[in-house]
Amino acid sequence: MGQITNPQPDVYLITGGVCNTYLLSGERLTVVDPGSYRAAELAFGLIQEICRANGGHSSRPIDITCTHFHLDHFNGVDHLQKLTGASVILNDQVKQFLNGRRMPLPLPHRILPLLPLRKQMDHVIPRWENIKHSRDEVRPSLFWPRIKAEVNSWIQPESFLPGREDWKMIASPGHSPDSVCLYNVGSKTLITGDTIFNLDSRPWFHPFVQDKISARETRRRLKELEVSALYPGHGWPVQGGNLMAKALGPRRRN
Ligand SMILES: [Zn+2]
Repeated sequence: MGQITNPQPDVYLITGGVCNTYLLSGERLTVVDPGSYRAAELAFGLIQEICRANGGHSSRPIDITCTHFHLDHFNGVDHLQKLTGASVILNDQVKQFLNGRRMPLPLPHRILPLLPLRKQMDHVIPRWENIKHSRDEVRPSLFWPRIKAEVNSWIQPESFLPGREDWKMIASPGHSPDSVCLYNVGSKTLITGDTIFNLDSRPWFHPFVQDKISARETRRRLKELEVSALYPGHGWPVQGGNLMAKALGPRRRN
């Protein structure tokens, strides 16, 4: 079951995959985090619907980007590119995982102490079996994800997405070294991937971090960002004033 909502005019939320997938409309259509075969199919359906609403001949270019190289955010990229011919735009930092020498996940000794917390998050973090069942030509591996899609642009964080002057890619390392958020400078909207998720209507900095020092620095920087709509990789969107100041640290619960 997939569901598509349109919480603000330029943002569509697609649920029903293993993570939240977003479509950012504008002069280009940008799909963020098509994390599964199913998410790719749903995003394709939405793109077709948007084109139909524009008289059946929208000439808007289509892009795909990801907030980080974790399988549950990445696994539908190849399929969606095949369906749409979209350009794939990735953070330059993803390259370090493509030669198979570095793992994009935290080491087991960092994960084990967090297992009790993992239970609380069952409804927002996908289970491995759900990821494994996403149909894809690439044999999914949680530890060594692969990408078959052609990457058209490698970009450095702190720059705008190519061809757009509304959405900026912001580095947010910690959960993984390549984590980024997407920030709309006009509407103060933040798409957070796994840097922040929503548990019980409160934004939370993700407790699963690969690098505690960079995660702390990311929290410090993001706390200063003006955000009025937060779209997490897992959990429902949160809207309101001063959202980053309300975001909780990795372990504390109020
Ligand atoms: Zn992740």
